[in-house]
Amino acid sequence: MTIRLDLAGIGVGPFNLSVASLLEPKKQIKATFFESRDSFAWHPGLLLDNTNMQTMFLKDLVSAVCPESSYSFLSYLVKNKKFYRFLSAELSCISRHEFSDYLSWVAQQLSNVQFSTEVEQVEFNGDSFEIQTNNGIYEAQNLCIGTGKVPFIPECAIPHIGPSVFHAAEMGLRDRDFTGKRVMIVGGGQSGADIFLNVLREKWGKAASLDWVSRRSNFQPLDEASFTNEFFTPDYVNAFVQLNPEVKHSEVTAQKLTSDGITQLALLDIYRELYHRFDVMKEDKWVRLLPHRTMDKLEQAASGFSLEVQNALSQKSEIHQADIVILATGFKSPYPACLNSILPLLDLDNEGRYQLTPDFELKWKGSKKNKIFAVNAGMHSHGIAEPQLSLMAWRSASIINRLSEKEIYDITSDKGMIDWISESVVDELVNA
Ligand SMILES: Cc1cc2nc3c(=O)[nH]c(=O)nc-3n(C[C@H](O)[C@H](O)[C@H](O)COP(=O)(O)OP(=O)(O)OC[C@H]3O[C@@H](n4cnc5c(N)ncnc54)[C@H](O)[C@@H]3O)c2cc1C
Repeated sequence: MTIRLDLAGIGVGPFNLSVASLLEPKKQIKATFFESRDSFAWHPGLLLDNTNMQTMFLKDLVSAVCPESSYSFLSYLVKNKKFYRFLSAELSCISRHEFSDYLSWVAQQLSNVQFSTEVEQVEFNGDSFEIQTNNGIYEAQNLCIGTGKVPFIPECAIPHIGPSVFHAAEMGLRDRDFTGKRVMIVGGGQSGADIFLNVLREKWGKAASLDWVSRRSNFQPLDEASFTNEFFTPDYVNAFVQLNPEVKHSEVTAQKLTSDGITQLALLDIYRELYHRFDVMKEDKWVRLLPHRTMDKLEQAASGFSLEVQNALSQKSEIHQADIVILATGFKSPYPACLNSILPLLDLDNEGRYQLTPDFELKWKGSKKNKIFAVNAGMHSHGIAEPQLSLMAWRSASIINRLSEKEIYDITSDKGMIDWISESVVDELVNA
């Protein structure tokens, strides 16, 4: 017998887990969130030693809209009997291990999350969505897509992917031994920094050399200043969604380092480790920092690999050698394959991206009574906060309110510090 649902969630990373947590007590909405993994895992290949959150623990699955929820970080601390010790540890920023443990703890308690269930195909029959999974067929009135992103691999590295050339997301998934090897990290964001520090601290054995290439002009910090944090508020997103696409694009580009830089803590850890090893302990230099360089060729060499990089300062190309190449080159968002058959029904913009309403609903040509929501799919429409944890609880509540067409959660907020758009202009934009 086919099970009928009000909402089917596809994928359970933190973002759909947040929607599931806020829906769990609302039994009037019958929802199931399907996850192909057999238990919750948060970027497991990058769950390395000495890695910390970029965001504060209060930006958890639920607190921003439902602080009384049993699924808050505070509740996790209390129920796991570590509340006082957590306070005494005075952590301004917690480890990714602890946040991941919190997310898993919540996932284990939710009755609306179903693991080991891969959504293979979604079809629309004119009345509802038919969800085909490896665990049977379900029927849902509405969807929430939360399949996340997949590793981005530069074109020149694709033919060499294997045990010696791999994406950062694979780092912790198997045993590694870098003893005596020349290691090259490509990519100057947080993942590159986390891996660099671990190689430097010899987590996988003592490498012969360690090089870190970044396209950026230096190893740049995350911009976490108070006013910058205003970009990660509902108030800013509410203003952002009204802007024209060109302005949105230039805003997001200008704000890159508010989410893509390296935390001050990680930079300081790296700097101090380098200072200690090479200026205090006087080790022979086996590490090179190589910013301002873009990799454009990767070739097999007689021994290991040869990388050609363009140096934006000297305007010349350089050749570097490595035995291991780790691609900390970020992530991309393809359409999940399971949506292939409904893809022609979706309204995409001229760059092939989903078009989203302010309530995170996809515009599509199907029936008005069937809604398709998407999380982590609208940086172009909702701004820089979209791929971040900061506003996930607020976004989940917006989705739930829209789904149920009533205000199940209060998502109104006070005016922010900054007047992004003055009232008279808002009226003009809305009426245009
Ligand atoms: C290493 C790392 C650290 C980060 N740290 C921070 C941070 O500190 N602060 C911050 O704000 N942001 C951070 N981010 C950014 C962001 O918060 C995370 O990427 C977050 O995991 C995104 O959540 P998600 O739910 O969209 O996707 P994901 O976490 O990628 O989860 C998607 C899930 O969908 C499942 N899935 C996919 N397809 C299917 C299918 N067809 N059927 C069933 N299941 C499917 C996958 O198995 C996966 O479990 C970090 C990102 C990375 C990579």
